[in-house]
Amino acid sequence: MHDFIPVNEPLLIGNEKKYLEECIDTGWISSEGPFVKKFETEFAKTVNRKYGISVCNGSVALDVAVTALEIGPGDEVIMPTFTIISCASAIVRTGAIPVLVDSDKYTWNMNIEQIEKKITKRTKAIMVVHIYGLPVDMNPVIQIAEKYNLFIIEDAAEVIGQTYYNKPCGSFGDISVFSFYPNKHITTGEGGMVVTDNEELAEKSKSLRNLCFQPQQRFIHEELGWNYRLSNIQAAVGLAQLEQLEKSIIGKREIGNRYLENLKGLSSLQMPLPKTKYAENIFWVFGIVLIDEKYPKAMSIMDILKTKKIGTRPFFWPMHEQPVFHKMGLFQNESHPTSENIARNGFYIPSGLAITDKQIDIVSDVLLELFD
Ligand SMILES: *Cc1c(COP(=O)(O)O)cnc(C)c1O
Repeated sequence: MHDFIPVNEPLLIGNEKKYLEECIDTGWISSEGPFVKKFETEFAKTVNRKYGISVCNGSVALDVAVTALEIGPGDEVIMPTFTIISCASAIVRTGAIPVLVDSDKYTWNMNIEQIEKKITKRTKAIMVVHIYGLPVDMNPVIQIAEKYNLFIIEDAAEVIGQTYYNKPCGSFGDISVFSFYPNKHITTGEGGMVVTDNEELAEKSKSLRNLCFQPQQRFIHEELGWNYRLSNIQAAVGLAQLEQLEKSIIGKREIGNRYLENLKGLSSLQMPLPKTKYAENIFWVFGIVLIDEKYPKAMSIMDILKTKKIGTRPFFWPMHEQPVFHKMGLFQNESHPTSENIARNGFYIPSGLAITDKQIDIVSDVLLELFD
């Protein structure tokens, strides 16, 4: 039988080693090293933004973004229920309230038709999260934000290198964020980035990342920040990865399209959309949703796949079903049926950049055998 096929394995075949050696040879390993600025500048350029502020992961990039916009107690932020906890926790930690919308059945992105109904006097922002490699339909969201004078916070962690009508994802928010966790389209091991065109937001984000030290009197603080800095070592890997981004996108599309071709006969499974009118999928993950009642839920299918040496991950679990938020009195008795359905019936299969065609075909054959 084949070796275990992990759900993700990154590819580090560019200048990563060379740049890391440079860190060691020069002794520059902290966030003061030259790769940090280089990576920030190059990354911001890639996503067509003026400012890039690197941070130590994507979750804290969200904390910085929400805090920089001065969102806090009494404010509401509209966001998808189907996403990672980091989106909601960034809002909750400031004292503001997340207001949830359900998912679209086909793209699994936030259902943009529900946004306007959720707006109140307290609404400050819409947090958009591009899910699994296909962008949210941004134009209607931008129109609503302009009409009601709301900020857009854009979480582009799953769409590095993706475009919406040929404009880079990450260029649509007043402030936008990325993650460079090893399963993203480029990685720094751990890492993230805040990007914006607004100088004031950029300065604020930089300050929040660095304990709100002040340029004049370093150890006197007007505000509380964090140490969320990215190291020169991580930025060195990031710069090398960024050089490979176009190849990574091509690679991810090849993986996704090979699965789609292999599995196209399976009517009991819902596959990711290969494209929409505004974007071609870059398959951050290759998600599958069971749509035939005769099969068990995703959890048991994932157990079966594990015995066949295939790694999987469940879909996100909706924010309105999180015990931690219920304990805070949030989202009680809320229902968002599409997200509940995809959370229970969805999982994703191996699709890291290091996967081989042979491995994709093995996984496909196992699925073809399980589902007729
Ligand atoms: C990965 C991810 C994050 C969090 O990034 P970390 O670097 O793992 O903290 C945030 N938002 C989305 C949508 C993500 O996929």
